[in-house]
Amino acid sequence: METLVVDHPLVAHKLTTLRDVRTDSPTFRRLADELVTLLAYEATRDVRVTDVTVETPLTTAHGVRLARPAPLVVPILRAGLGMLDGMTRILPTAEVGFLGMIRDESTLKAQTYATRLPEDLSGRQCYVLDPMLATGGTLAAAVRFLFDRGAQDVTAICLLAAPEGIAHMDEAFRDSGKPIRVVTAALDERLNEQGYIVPGLGDAGDRLYGVV
Ligand code: URA
Repeated sequence: METLVVDHPLVAHKLTTLRDVRTDSPTFRRLADELVTLLAYEATRDVRVTDVTVETPLTTAHGVRLARPAPLVVPILRAGLGMLDGMTRILPTAEVGFLGMIRDESTLKAQTYATRLPEDLSGRQCYVLDPMLATGGTLAAAVRFLFDRGAQDVTAICLLAAPEGIAHMDEAFRDSGKPIRVVTAALDERLNEQGYIVPGLGDAGDRLYGVV
């Protein structure tokens, strides 16, 4: 598995404000949206394209267009929804599938409670949106789900990652032979006893949408 920590002052600036406990939900949502767009730029570096020729007002020019089948963007509900607009802004022709997963707070294991995805993902490039790569259980389950349906490769975009989560993903897919990338704004220090990323930014879903 490849891990890319995007090293850019604008990414660091936005992430710092996201971490700040004084940042309110509307500001948090706006900054998360902007940050995803920056991460998506790097995450889509290997998006498949096909060669095309277009007529300019002067002559013909060779270029590229996104290849078919279209990339599939998969936000993991609920916090991943806060990343969807930022992603589809940069990839407007992508299709969007949904995966509802919740972490059991006592076992820290992921449970799937909703899916809305094509049955056949053969040849599809998939982009999973999950703000917090903590234990890695949820992301590993989501990635496995997509590969089981035939996905060609999976790139996860995470606002933050913990070393434990990266290690879990590495271990889970070591022998899979499938291309997996994690693109994140920062690799934090560790998880605490409750499975929160430290220093982190708290509960991403609560900070985006409030405690419900
Ligand atoms: N999920 C969150 O929302 N925050 C964490 O720190 C870990 C998992």
